[in-house]
Amino acid sequence: MDIKNYCFKGKEEFSLQNYDTKDTAEFTSKKETIELLAANQARMAQLQDRLYAENKEALLIIFQAMDAAGKDGAIKHVISGMNPQGVIVHNFKQPTSEELDHDYLWRAWRVLPGRGDIGIFNRSYYEDVLVVKVHSLYKNLPLPDRCKTGELFQQRYMQINHFEKYLYQNGIRVVKIFLHLSKDEQKKRFLERIDDEEKNWKFSQSDIEERMYWDTYQEAYEDAIKATATKKAPWYIVPADKKWFARLLISQIIVDTLEEINPQYPELPDNKKALLSQCREQLLAETKEEEEKD
Ligand code: ATP
Ligand code: MG
Repeated sequence: MDIKNYCFKGKEEFSLQNYDTKDTAEFTSKKETIELLAANQARMAQLQDRLYAENKEALLIIFQAMDAAGKDGAIKHVISGMNPQGVIVHNFKQPTSEELDHDYLWRAWRVLPGRGDIGIFNRSYYEDVLVVKVHSLYKNLPLPDRCKTGELFQQRYMQINHFEKYLYQNGIRVVKIFLHLSKDEQKKRFLERIDDEEKNWKFSQSDIEERMYWDTYQEAYEDAIKATATKKAPWYIVPADKKWFARLLISQIIVDTLEEINPQYPELPDNKKALLSQCREQLLAETKEEEEKD
């Protein structure tokens, strides 16, 4: 599957409307994708092992989406194939008072993945140009008036671009995934969450309130994606009406990104190799001694 069709690097025109939420590429059913997903998960595990061993580059995967688009399920599937040591998921909820007491990138800085690790952001600092824009929440922020101007979001897009460039130049790759859901499919999933007792916990009344701002959110996403997609930190627009397709595509995006990083197991310098041979000899000698005693 070619992930290029879903990748936006900021060069061409961009409109979310040009991306079909129901797209499933060449596949027509989940059944056709099960083996491919499993193969991707296995490959991901191998590459993650090397990334961890090499301990040079880090990968940050950001998930953004409307409610019920499948972020949580997608994250669960993605990491199920990985070694939990080396993968860290962070959920970005409404900021705490301590977080509000700092600049908006502060809470993200603190949880960036270390070398060799994969960091997954379930929502991210992009909320600060999405929900904060849709509801003009910046007006209530404890910021000096000179910062609360009409320029605020343009400035933040630029700051995010600088931040992500900084990360890239310091060994952290950033991949941004927008799960693109249709309004109809969201309604269907909300109804399921209301009707199925086991899914009730996933539903909150605020989900319905946010749904009323659907169009404003779509515009905010479009503006944010347009302004922050770059060659080194691209956005992927993942059709999300079919969960099985979204999961397959996400697994492919991660595999391809890791292949591009191309991590290698560290090769030992000659003196360390010699030391290994010595240790080997010593261990084998131990066995011989024991056999002789027996
Ligand atoms: P779920 O699928 O479980 O609903 P969720 O990511 O929607 O997952 P919630 O606890 O429902 O988790 O929602 C977190 C909320 O926090 C979202 O509505 C999000 O918009 C909001 N939020 C995140 N960051 C900010 C921010 N910087 N300012 C204001 N609200 C924020
Ligand atoms: Mg929610």
